[in-house]
Amino acid sequence: MARITFLMYHELELAGRKLCQSEPGYVRYILPLETFRSQMEWLKHSGVRGLSVGEALRFPTEPSVCITFDDGCETDWIAAAPVLRELGFYATFYLTAGFLGTPGYLSAEQVRALDAQGFEIGCHSMTHAYLSDLPETGLQREIVDAKTKIEQILGHAIEHFSCPGGRYNQRALAMARRAGFKTVANSEFHANDSSTSTLELGRVAMLRDLSIAHFSAICQDRGLWKKRLEHQARRGVQRLVGNRAYDWLRAILLRESP
Ligand SMILES: [Zn+2]
Repeated sequence: MARITFLMYHELELAGRKLCQSEPGYVRYILPLETFRSQMEWLKHSGVRGLSVGEALRFPTEPSVCITFDDGCETDWIAAAPVLRELGFYATFYLTAGFLGTPGYLSAEQVRALDAQGFEIGCHSMTHAYLSDLPETGLQREIVDAKTKIEQILGHAIEHFSCPGGRYNQRALAMARRAGFKTVANSEFHANDSSTSTLELGRVAMLRDLSIAHFSAICQDRGLWKKRLEHQARRGVQRLVGNRAYDWLRAILLRESP
């Protein structure tokens, strides 16, 4: 059975351009453009195709990975898309609807340009709130209203959602399904196959310091179980102390690490 790793990228770092945020907890998910390019070139040279979520869910038997970006930063258009186009890869860009048009994020025009070039547009909430913390009204805004806002920009329906901070619960998934999303992606460390629930697609976060050896292992679904155990331990702590306390704790720990 074809198993496909879904890669999760964020903003890319360009020389002379200020990042949207500067906390260590954010920057560890930010790859310099050169690192992203070398990963994409490694895929190309290895005969691995880069697919959008919609394409990946057909589970082709040729070696493939799914390429996704969260948050809707401007670098999706000015940095990632040119590299992907050059190599003939596709990807899904999940946008935070409420951030569009603000400094550092995509404009409505750039969103339409990505769509016109065949990239897939998805939704990453309205304000980047953690869904597991929200009452029904909040879920409505982050899932239903955000979908409508992006669809008004595009002029057509969208089908894919990714959870801010990877946080979600069954109420959030039910709301996403009712809103008409066909898939929901999180950030659990596992590859997906045709038996994976389309409302719980795992993705592997691409970290700034990831070596190319590690990258190739991830793309070939090797050793993900180790990462999954670490991740489950972290999720356990999150549940124990709550999302806000966890983020506060994590910010302190990251500041103190070398
Ligand atoms: Zn995000």
